[in-house]
Parts: sequence; C-alpha cells; structure tokens
Amino acid sequence: MVPGARLIVLGKQGAGKGTQCMRLSHRYVVPHISTGDMLRAAVKSRTPLGLQARRYLDAGDLIPDEVVLAMVAARLDQDDTRTRGFVLDGFPRTVAQADGFDELLKPAVIDLVLNLVVPTGLVLERLVSRRVCEDCGAIYSTSAPPKLNWSCDVCGGEVVQREDDTEEAIKNRLDLYDSSTAPLVTRYAALGKLVEVWGVGSPDEVTNSLTAVIDAYQHGGEFFPPTPTQARPPAGRRELRELPLGAGEQS
Ligand code: AMP
Repeated sequence: MVPGARLIVLGKQGAGKGTQCMRLSHRYVVPHISTGDMLRAAVKSRTPLGLQARRYLDAGDLIPDEVVLAMVAARLDQDDTRTRGFVLDGFPRTVAQADGFDELLKPAVIDLVLNLVVPTGLVLERLVSRRVCEDCGAIYSTSAPPKLNWSCDVCGGEVVQREDDTEEAIKNRLDLYDSSTAPLVTRYAALGKLVEVWGVGSPDEVTNSLTAVIDAYQHGGEFFPPTPTQARPPAGRRELRELPLGAGEQS
C-alpha cells in the first residue's frame, strides 16, 4: 500500500477537482474531504449550519471563513484523518482559511498542493452542462448523460442541474475564485508546496499526471522540491481537447 498523504487540490470550480480528489482518495487510502459536499449535505438535512449556508450556496458566494474553519476542524478531529492524512477538495478557498488551517493542523503540515489548471472557457462549458445525482453526487453532463431517463447509473437517484449552476452564480464563483482563491497559488508556491498540473484531457490522463507528481514526492523523486511552473498543454497538443467525464464520475 502506498503511504498516505496530506493533500490539497486547488482549481476553479468545474476543473474536475471532485473526480480527481475521489480517485486520489482511493489510491492513497485517505479520506476525501469536500467542504462543498459537507455543506450540501447540511442544507439537505436542514441542520442549523445548512439553514445558515443555503443562501450563500444558491448565490455562489463563499461561506464565512470562521464557519468553514469550524466545520473542517470538526472533521479533522475524526480519527481517519489522523492516521494517513486526507485529500482536501474546495478548501481552503481564501488566505484566511489557509492560515487558520495551518494552525489547526499543527504540528503536522500539508505535504503537497496540486493546482489543477483548466482554461476558464472550458470550465464554463463544463459547469453549464454539468448534471448531478441528487442522492449520491455522481456527475454527468448534457453530452454524457446517464443511460436511462436522467436516473443515476450508480444508484438510480434523480440526475438534475445543481441549484448553484445558474449562469449568474457560476460567474460569481469564477470572479470569487480570481479574487479570493487564486492568491493561494502564490502563497503555497512561496512555501515550496505547489505543483501545477494540466487539467485538460480524459479523467485518466489527468489522474496519471497527478499521481506521477505525488508518487515522485513520496519517493523523493526529481520533481522535488517542487518548482511552481505554469502548467500548460503537453507538447504537440495544439488545441484544447477534452473528453467527457465517464458516466458516474464524481465532479
Ligand atoms: P463546491 O462543491 O466546492 O463547488 O462548493 C459549493 C459551494 O459551497 C461554494 O460555491 C460555496 O458557496 C460553498 N463552499 C464550499 N467550500 C467552501 C469554502 N472552503 N469556503 C467558503 N465557501 C465554500
């Protein structure tokens, strides 16, 4: 079994973070911690946190830092994150969250921050066509729908458009990414933790790129210490090409 790891995956919404984090969580046998999934679950079960969070999610706004940090702190208190680590999806999203998280984690530290780079035009296309299973969260798109009547191939749940995948909320989330989340790239690069990975291609191609970086890190390979180079299309690939997510992939 490969050693565990404490990983953060950054990237715009629609960059494929969810799918890739789920795959990394299986491969490195660490929990996948998605703050978006936790918040959606809270909204669905109408907990006090969910009632508070709903309007932020619907508008594509960020939940206040202290609320998200408290939620992540409670999750990190569970034993499964202590033994082998975790892969964080959608967190941190602001410099204040990253600073708070560093404090929470002490004396441990993050191993690697992987920034999944996907051009904005492509991310927009993916978000507008994204459809999700209401029950298990499996991801589809209008170009790769479930096999039967918008019923999830995995669990049979109803496959719908996410309530925050409206054009207005998507635009708001992308603007917030630029103003609040993009500075984290510089922050983690300065700490020598950041590696940028080109996120366009089939899910398998992107997973291979990510695991190559992580495996090299774990084995003290030549990638390290990481250099914060700008991810770009592989040589010889002239145009941005994307294969649809496979049926039942997580976002
Ligand atoms: P996601 O599933 O990561 O796309 O997140 C969905 C929504 O949950 C976001 O648009 C925010 O409203 C909220 N959210 C998720 N993670 C965070 C976070 N780390 N900080 C603030 N808001 C968050």
